[in-house]
Amino acid sequence: MPDTSTSRVSHEHWVKVLLLGGSGEARELAELLTGEPGIDVVSSLAGRLRNPRLPDGEVRVGGFGGAEGLRDWLHENLIDALVVATHPFAARMTSNAIDAATALGLPYLVLRRPPWQPVPGDRWTPVESMAVAAAVLPEFGDRVFLTIGRQGVDVFAEVGSWFLIRAIDRPSRALPPRHELLLERGPFSVEHELALLENHGIDVLVTKNSGGDQTVAKLAAARMFGLPVIVVDRPDLGVSAAVVDTVDGVVNWLRVVRGSASA
Ligand code: NAP
Repeated sequence: MPDTSTSRVSHEHWVKVLLLGGSGEARELAELLTGEPGIDVVSSLAGRLRNPRLPDGEVRVGGFGGAEGLRDWLHENLIDALVVATHPFAARMTSNAIDAATALGLPYLVLRRPPWQPVPGDRWTPVESMAVAAAVLPEFGDRVFLTIGRQGVDVFAEVGSWFLIRAIDRPSRALPPRHELLLERGPFSVEHELALLENHGIDVLVTKNSGGDQTVAKLAAARMFGLPVIVVDRPDLGVSAAVVDTVDGVVNWLRVVRGSASA
């Protein structure tokens, strides 16, 4: 009897894809790929949010146990290709994914939406890390809109400014002594963001350069009020990896992978 246990590609001409998610683009991709013939997708979420927006199709939740755990998981689950569509600040998962795919010789692609770019009227100060943002913050204002999500808020725990802290779920680590917590999930309108800035007397914003349209309205609102924005740059990928910046780019790549698998 032929051995059909090790390769789906050569026997069925289907490509099984692990899609590392945690971004809006990953959900969009999962939806698009549901209708794509010959491509079988499993989405993976870290499991950080209490009430995540789940992608279409098969979903698994939780860490893999580092690059080695992921490598084993990819092997055991007969994955043919890996798509890294995590949030641009999920540096560890991205690096683990590249290491695991490289070790197995698996085709992989990183999807990163383009970063936001300043436009005339913006008063941005780009910084390389959250720690630098916390160090320079007092030079810019005393009433801070901290819109970095729940991770990294503890870096500001020793800063004496007043903070409006926005996140989807409550941060689990130390918070600055003077703050108000606002639990809400985007997308946000410019009107919503203008009202927040005005009602809380905000004089400076801190954001990651996440990119995308879900949370970009705060930057337009800051521009309209002439407020400074401290923008934390994205972490480097650390290696030269194949990167695209659109979901269509991923779909086209997967079609090529599927084509070469069935050739
Ligand atoms: P990270 O620092 O890069 O990853 C930390 C660990 O979380 C990874 O080593 C991995 O655990 C696990 N993990 C991360 N993404 C995963 C995924 N898609 N599926 C399974 N396990 C995953 O990531 P993070 O910054 O903590 O972000 C966690 C998740 O939230 C990511 O999926 C990211 O896309 C999403 N997110 C992050 C941000 C942000 O600003 N960082 C914002 C919005 C959404 P193991 O080592 O055990 O495999």
